[in-house]
Amino acid sequence: MKENNQFSNQLRPSSFAEFIGHNNIRENLKIFTLATKKRGYPNDHLLFYGPPGTGKTTLALIMAKELGVDIKITSGAALRKAGDLAAILTNLSPNSIFFIDEIHRLPKNVEEILYPVLENYQLDIVIGKGPSARVVNLSLPKMIIIGSTTKLALISSPLRDRFGLILRLNYYNENELKEIILNAAKKLSLSINQEAALEMAKRSRRTPRIALSLLKRAKDFLDVKKAKIIDLDFIKELFGVLRMDALGLNPIDIDYLELLYHKFSNQPVGLSTIAASLSEEERTIEELIEPYLLRLGLIKKTAKGRVLTTKGLSYLGQLEIKEINDY
Ligand code: ADP
Repeated sequence: MKENNQFSNQLRPSSFAEFIGHNNIRENLKIFTLATKKRGYPNDHLLFYGPPGTGKTTLALIMAKELGVDIKITSGAALRKAGDLAAILTNLSPNSIFFIDEIHRLPKNVEEILYPVLENYQLDIVIGKGPSARVVNLSLPKMIIIGSTTKLALISSPLRDRFGLILRLNYYNENELKEIILNAAKKLSLSINQEAALEMAKRSRRTPRIALSLLKRAKDFLDVKKAKIIDLDFIKELFGVLRMDALGLNPIDIDYLELLYHKFSNQPVGLSTIAASLSEEERTIEELIEPYLLRLGLIKKTAKGRVLTTKGLSYLGQLEIKEINDY
């Protein structure tokens, strides 16, 4: 775990210049950061949304570095009570960044405490219980609150409307991922050629975090094999060991597809049934496995559940049963 953190911290871009892709967002944030710096205090909040591993936390860290301010990172899932949020807010230094990951998981009572904070840095806390309870208003220092979510649709409009700038971090293309891999390899002093970096990029599910974790697998494999360079032959052997195919599908994805076909004869299946059958959490299936299978067009979601598409059946070599799943 520690090594993982060290690895990802070492590879995390530390300036806007090192952040690959999403030029528009980068420029927007550069301007936002410069204006804040010039003014000397923040006056707006940001909401980042997009799939996991696409750079939301990285951008917040870059902003903190460029502004020269502290950043406190927490998660909507960790803030269970109003007091949890109040404890953090009252300890933040002026002008700092408060990053709330998975903000869609904030409980309603905590979310409501956040409204006046987002509006005018006011924290309203209830002290005591019953008839003697009273509301105390605390003025907080000015700060930038950055919400991050993989599920914009789950954010209530009162919360969403209190963020001045809403930015969407989407998936990356192969060239961008290739550049991310080449830059990271350089930081790790690994030799990798262009073709190998591109093959790795193709299997990265259009996500930087996955590209970097593939590079980590390659580094381990290189150490074990005592090889000198990551080239095409090396990559082919690595993907064989990882049981990863040319589309970037791994054994879990293939288990998923085979489950729909073999166990459910490609009749629509609900998320909870799939999760129970694969012994995975529903969130893992919904956020990590399905988006890529949907994007490749191997499965589709219908009102009744998930089914394989013609392309999915063809992938499994099972085109002959295509007729029975015309939903
Ligand atoms: P998120 O917060 O969206 O889940 P992160 O910001 O933690 O994703 O990014 C995951 C990893 O991918 C980080 O280690 C970071 O180094 C890398 N990364 C993400 N986006 C980029 C990018 N645009 N350029 C370079 N590296 C990136």
